[in-house]
Formats: sequence, structure tokens, C-alpha cells
Amino acid sequence: MFVDVILPLALSELFSYSVPAEWANTIVPGIRVAVQVGQKKLYSAIVYRVYEDKPATGYVIKEIFSVLDETPIVNDYQLKLWEWISAYYMCSLGEVMKVALPAGLKMESETRVCIVPFDNIDVDLSDIEKQIIRELEDKERSIEELYNRTKRRNILPAVKLLLDKGLLSIREELKTSYRAKTATFVRLHPSIDSEEKLNEALEAVKRADKQRAIVEGYIHAASPLSYKVPVEMSRKELLKLSRSSSAALKACVDKNILEYLEKQIGRIDNSAVSVNEISNLSSIQQQAFDKIKHQFTLHNTVLLHGVTSSGKTEIYIKLISEQLQQGKHVLYLLPEIALTTQIIHRLKNVFGNRIGVYHSHFNNHERIEVYNNLLEANNDSGFVILGVRSSIFLPYTKLGLIIVDEEHENTYKQYDPAPRYHARDSVIVLSQLHGAKVLLGTATPAIETYYNAVNGKYGLVKLSERFGNMELPVVETVDMVRARKRKQVHTHFSGMLLDGIQDALEQGEQVILFQNRRGFSPFVMCQTCGYTPRCEYCDVSLTYHKYNSQLVCHYCGYAISMQHHCPQCQSADIQACGFGTEKIEEELKLLIPEARIERLDLDNTRQKNAYERILHDFEEQEINILVGTQMVTKGLDFDNVSLVGVLNADNMLNFPDFRAHERSYQLMAQVGGRAGRKNKKGRVLIQTSDTGNPVIRYIQQHDYLSMYNSQIEERKVFNYPPFCRLLVLTLKHTNKNVVDEAAITLSHTLKAIFGNRLAGPETPLINRIQNKYLLNFRLKLGRDKAAQQAKVLLRECFDQLIQSKKEYRTLKISVDVDPM
Ligand code: ADP
Ligand code: ZN
Ligand code: ZN
Repeated sequence: MFVDVILPLALSELFSYSVPAEWANTIVPGIRVAVQVGQKKLYSAIVYRVYEDKPATGYVIKEIFSVLDETPIVNDYQLKLWEWISAYYMCSLGEVMKVALPAGLKMESETRVCIVPFDNIDVDLSDIEKQIIRELEDKERSIEELYNRTKRRNILPAVKLLLDKGLLSIREELKTSYRAKTATFVRLHPSIDSEEKLNEALEAVKRADKQRAIVEGYIHAASPLSYKVPVEMSRKELLKLSRSSSAALKACVDKNILEYLEKQIGRIDNSAVSVNEISNLSSIQQQAFDKIKHQFTLHNTVLLHGVTSSGKTEIYIKLISEQLQQGKHVLYLLPEIALTTQIIHRLKNVFGNRIGVYHSHFNNHERIEVYNNLLEANNDSGFVILGVRSSIFLPYTKLGLIIVDEEHENTYKQYDPAPRYHARDSVIVLSQLHGAKVLLGTATPAIETYYNAVNGKYGLVKLSERFGNMELPVVETVDMVRARKRKQVHTHFSGMLLDGIQDALEQGEQVILFQNRRGFSPFVMCQTCGYTPRCEYCDVSLTYHKYNSQLVCHYCGYAISMQHHCPQCQSADIQACGFGTEKIEEELKLLIPEARIERLDLDNTRQKNAYERILHDFEEQEINILVGTQMVTKGLDFDNVSLVGVLNADNMLNFPDFRAHERSYQLMAQVGGRAGRKNKKGRVLIQTSDTGNPVIRYIQQHDYLSMYNSQIEERKVFNYPPFCRLLVLTLKHTNKNVVDEAAITLSHTLKAIFGNRLAGPETPLINRIQNKYLLNFRLKLGRDKAAQQAKVLLRECFDQLIQSKKEYRTLKISVDVDPM
């Protein structure tokens, strides 16, 4: 018997192995087997196909080493999805496997394992298992090292068993970005250890009403009071119940009556959760809900186009609940890990523990737990998975519904490495495999999605009112050209924006400021000779980060310290040009010193818990002004923000990309959506030098449709998606001559096939990244079946090119299908 297996590699072909007779009955597609590649490398591979006739291969067929699973760990639905992704996005099944499986289910020679500390070996271990433990006693080792040291062919099954028993773990790269969720709790200060001390404390706050309310509130809620093990109460709850302020609570802490503690709150929390009733939908929401259900009888996919705060999430919750009652799986996709925190909370409230969260910030163990939970789904109760892009790869067995929230977000597209897949588009295929439905939700649909909806491919349901009569914000522009002429601009702030901020702060309201760029300034320049420090490996200028005095490449991470003398002319006149979030924060601190200002961007959220802490503090109104990048635009729900400022609309509008206007509309409409409070209209101020830009007018009028119409017209005229399928082909090599030459050869071959549907070779905006020179081609394919054949043809052209010359062997050719 023979098998074709999928290896976690970029190989375009599958590898064949023979199966010893003793295992013939146990082998089925989807299980893992241990195989050897080359002389040394060991892998766990997924069985893809089982058959009896010896295949014709150009290599000697080896035997598999061992069988790792009794039952498949990858089901048929998954394999079909992998196939589609591999064909559509032009990558290998192995590349799909790499993103699809959590690290703990993939083992290869380079995989490093270590022992999990444990007290007594009370477990039954085989000889080889004992030997492995001994080998790992003093240090972690790779599987290859273990193999060399033990010379045991069945090393992988033994490692697998030890992993299952929890005695070994796979070493992961240190995840600095991992954020556990924490919350602030309050308890009695340890110095208060008797009735007497407590009375003294009460005496001390007698005349401060708000402080007294807090202490009394705590005593009341924590009764019976224990001085040894004081009750811990969530800060939020205490403030709510005592109807007091955070300043008063802080005073009680300063007086050593109460103390704060930071507590981690679980993610896959298995404790009993109080489950609340689902909110009743408003009549408009109910109508939308009914329409969605009706549209599902006609279409596989429905777009819910609902303005910000219209209650889309409430509608999702009701739809999910119906699926769970039928014992189905639901996948709820979010564009970013950061967003999961707010939503988890809302879902847990109604679904308790029937919800699993899946993303890369969870450790292996937790991810495998979720994976296995679904794989074994023998229980009749349904289950919701809340996850980002990669959660489309989990082993669902009975998907009923997939929700793609904020479907327009480009984080749904994986850019690098392959597979360069779009999760939104892939789940439509996944849903068809399961006979499930897809709901796409957003206030600002992607042009492609809306096109499909108005053309009847998707159902379309609109929700155009905010919940609870909240009005959409007023959007005003600030003409920066005029303001500058009139000397009304302080650093990067117009007088109008500054006044707006002051007004909001005086009313006790909060402000969000959006700047599309992180760092202090995008580049620094010698004012004498014009020299600008650039990355050594990429063709970009270095971004200045003032807080650590570094110049950093945002493409590869290369960093040097800030230069105070020009290396070219020795001048000391080096200045920061342009501005990012860090500079805005600094300037604002000087302009409005009394405000509490925080920044939210990639740079200051790398640290553990930073993101949660900042959002938490903003929610608790301990921060007045939040300055941030795209991160602040996404579906966050605050209730005291009255003003949103966009510092510079011009760099978004003028970005050289056919989606620039669509993106600008989405970003500004989304961030503007954060403004507004119950009973009070929010305000959005956009600083721009181009007040006449139609996109800005559409935002002011909350007129998505006009934006769509103007964009779709342009796309039609210039033949851009959705009127064609766009592919970007990129050649990469460390030697510029090799890329140039190969591009010319490829261009001849491709021009002969595709004619003027091919553009290029062209130098991309950034033409060198990580020391590799890049050249691009753009190819526009039709939207029909022929496109798929064209991809096969393309692949053949690449193979031909690579084999035509020795230097081309090291050429990298990547394809981005439907680039974002
Ligand atoms: P969207 O997802 O469309 O931005 P949300 O679902 O987040 O809107 O709703 C905005 C706010 O209004 C949330 O605070 C939510 O709790 C509240 N809300 C919406 N619909 C209801 C409802 N039917 N009952 C109670 N509160 C609701
Ligand atoms: Zn100089
Ligand atoms: Zn770089």
C-alpha cells in the first residue's frame, strides 16, 4: 500500500511513501505519519491519499516510519478547504498545512521540545519515552538531535505520546505580544486588621461623602467582613455600586484603607458563568433580523450593511443562539485579536462556556485544546468559535453559520508568507462545503462585497439607524491651507481642533485622535545637505522613534540610534520631518498639559497587557485623550467620546493605490463612528488641505452609496476589481541583475500568453526589502473559469523560468491573488 502525504513545506508536489503491511488497516486520509525526507529530516506528515498501485516517481519510495494517530486529526472538510486555497491562491498544500495546524500538531526535525517540570514519574513510560526524558533533563533539544542521540526510528510517536501525556512541550518563540486579560480589583488594606482599625478608617473619611460611600459600599458588599482574607471586589463594580468616582477610590487607597490588585481573568474560563438573557431586539433590528433569515433562504451569503452602533452585534448574538440550539458550530470572525476582548465579554454574558477563542496569542496548549474540542464534537450542544483569520482552519464538523464582522478590514488577508489567503472569501467556500450560511457585517462594505450584493450574488440587508435614537456624528472639515495662512495652526493642530478638544474636556467628555502613522516622524533629514538615513536592507527611510531615541525600519525591524550629526556633512542640524502618533502625543502634552493623554499603536502595545490596560483606562475615563493609528478605528464601543479628530486626511487620500479612496472612506467613517453618546450628537473634525475632495463630502453626508458609485465607475473604466481578478507576481533576488534579467525573460513568455492584460515589470514602491531586490508584474484575469486555468499556466511558466538558468534556482517568485 502507498500513501501521498502533505509535508509542511513549499513543495508543489506531494510525496509518496510505502506503508508496511502491519499498518495497512490503520491508515486513512487525515492522520499523521512520521516520514523521513532526505537523509536526515523527520516530519510528521498528513496522509492525503491512500492507494494500492505503486506510483511512478522520480525518486526511490521510502517506507513511512510510524503512524502517529488512530483517528484523523484533519477532517474531510478541512482537506477540501486546503485544496481550494492551494489552487486559488497558488500555493502548496504544505504551505496551507503550515498555517492551518497549531504548532503542537506539527512536528519536524527543527521542532524543539523540552520537558514540563513534574514532581514524580508515576506514569508508565516505555523505554524510549524514558530515554527521551533523560536526554531532555538538562536542556531542550530538537527532534533531529533526539533522533541522532537515540537512533530510534520511532522517535516521533514517542514524542507525540509524551506531548499527549503533558510531560513534554513544544518550545514556542517567546510571544512578547501575548496579552493575558486582567482587571483591577479592590480589597481591604492589610493594615486594617481589626474592628478598631476599621472604625478609625471610617472616621477618617467621615466628612468626604464620596470616599465614605466607597468604604461603606465595600463593607456592605464584602460582608461578612474578614480581616485575614479580605474579599476582592472588581473596581468597576465597586464604583458602580457606591455611585462614586475613581478619584474618591484613589483617595481611599492613598489613605491605606483599601488597596488595588491586578488580577488575571481567564480566557477559556471554565468556571460557572452567570448567563444572562439575550437583549430584546428593537423593532428595526428585529426587521433586519427577519430579512437576514429570509435572505438566507435565497442566498448562501448575506451582507448586513449597518451603520456604526446600529446593534449588528446584538443581531449576530441572536443568530448564533439559534444555531447553538440546533447543536451547530458557529464561527465568528474578527479582523484583529485586539477586538476579541470586548466581544468575548458580551458573548460570555449570553453563551457562558459554549464559546472558544482561537488566535496566536494563546499558547499551544490552549490552541490544541480548542482544536481537539471541535474535532471530538460528539456532544450535541453547539459551540461558537471567536477567532481571527486562522480560525477558518479549525476542524469544524457541523458548521451552521459563519459571521465575518467588519468584513471590509484588510487584516483578513494574509500578506506574507504564503498562503496569501483572504479569510472572508475562503469562508464562503468553507460554508458551501458544510451547507452553512455566511453573514458579512460592516458599516463600510468593501467595494467588491457591495458589488456582489447589489448584483444579487449576495443578499443585502440594511440597518441605517443607530440604536437608542443615537444620532450619527456631525462631520466638519478644517481647511489646513487657510488655517496656516491665518496663522491658526500650532504644530500639527488647527485652532479649531484645539478648541474642540478643550470644549470636550471641559464637559468631562473624551476625545480620540487618529493619525495614520506610528512613530515620532516618518523620516529625519539633514537641513544642510538633505541627507536622510535609510534602511540598509530595504529601500525605505528610517522612522524616528523618540521614546527610545531610535531610527527604525518598519519593514524589517532594522534599527540604529538617532543620529545627531549628519554622517555626510557633519552638520548638527538634523530635523524630524512629518509626524506620527508619538509626535502628536508629545505636542499635545505641551499644548494641553492638564489632559491625561495615552497613545494606542503597535509600538506601545507590544508589552504584555498593554492594550487591555489602555482600553480599560480609557473606558474608566482615566484617560481623556486617546491618540492612535488604525487600531482606534476598529469596532470599539465607548460611551463618553464626544469628539474624534483626524489629524491628516491627505496622506490617506493621496496614497498611490486604486483603493486609496475606499480605504480613506472606511477609516474615517469608522473612527468617526466612535463619536457620539447616548443623548448627545458626536463631532468629527477632519484636518485636510483638500476640503473639496469628494470622499470627504461623502463622509460628511454619511453617504456610502455615493462613494461606492463613484468608485465602481472608476474601477469599471480602468478595469480593476471587481471587474477583473488582479494578481501581483513578485520576483525576488539578492542580486539586482538576476531579477532584472529574469523579469525580462518572464515578461516575454507571459506577454505572449496574456498580451496587454499583463503590466510590468515595474519597480514597486519599495524596491528592496530585507536585502532582496523586487520586481512586480500585475496581471488582470477575467472572472470566469478560465482564470483558474491561467493560474496553472502561470505556474508552468515559473517552473520553466527557474530551470532555464543556474542563477535562477535561487530566485523567489511569489504570487498574490486578489492583493489588498
Ligand atoms: P454595532 O455592532 O452595529 O456597532 P453594537 O451591537 O455594538 O453595534 O451596539 C451598540 C451599542 O448599543 C452597544 O452598547 C449595545 O449594547 C447597544 N445595543 C444595541 N442593540 C441593543 C438592544 N437591542 N438592546 C440593548 N442594547 C443594545
Ligand atoms: Zn548633512
Ligand atoms: Zn529594512
